[in-house]
Amino acid sequence: MREIGFPWSEAMADRARRSVGATVAACRAALREGVAANIAGGTHHSYTDRGGGFCVFNDAAVAARLMQAEQARASRKPLQVAIIDLDVHQGNGTASIFRKDESVFTLSLHGQKNFPFRKEASDLDVPLPDGCRDDEYLQALEGALTGLEGRFEPGLVIYLAGSDPHEGDRLGRLKLTWDGLEARDRRVFDWAWQRRIPLAFAMAGGYGVRIEDTVQAQVNTFGVGAQYWRRWQNQAR
Ligand SMILES: [Zn+2]
Repeated sequence: MREIGFPWSEAMADRARRSVGATVAACRAALREGVAANIAGGTHHSYTDRGGGFCVFNDAAVAARLMQAEQARASRKPLQVAIIDLDVHQGNGTASIFRKDESVFTLSLHGQKNFPFRKEASDLDVPLPDGCRDDEYLQALEGALTGLEGRFEPGLVIYLAGSDPHEGDRLGRLKLTWDGLEARDRRVFDWAWQRRIPLAFAMAGGYGVRIEDTVQAQVNTFGVGAQYWRRWQNQAR
């Protein structure tokens, strides 16, 4: 994507910019209200100087840095951001961007044999075997969250809720069921809620053999997200 030569490149760049803007807006809203979402975003294969996969700009990276800058301007304590990337593909761009940045923790659970074939080192990587099912996945997630907690204290979580670990996905090599995906989402939202860490989420990837399945997985994530948003609002009263 170093050179975008398509006639629709401007529309594509505009869409990509707006998607970054939506993750920024979601992060600001999450810091106010506890939970917020971007119905696009999660373009985690983008590096600082180039796109990759289907990704033009790295929305989570831009949003993380901008939230840190805004918090610094408000002279509060430095904002630490955890990016919890549960898209089936490794968050190589994000890992690369924050490799030397101790204020952003990158966690990626992904299919070991899925794209990208040359992976970058996140702060915590959990590669999973082909055909990985609900129990094994949820156990790995539990271990990853424990690992994150032992090493980092985030003031904001950005969650990439890719639906591509679903068994009906064309590209993902894992085999999560609907229940497994929902349990995954619930665990992440609950983990952040228990610690009262604001959480912004983005949709990331989803390539269902049936497009309806991808949409359904995303709707389910929003349903769980809305429940946790309500908890934050009820607590605030
Ligand atoms: Zn993906």
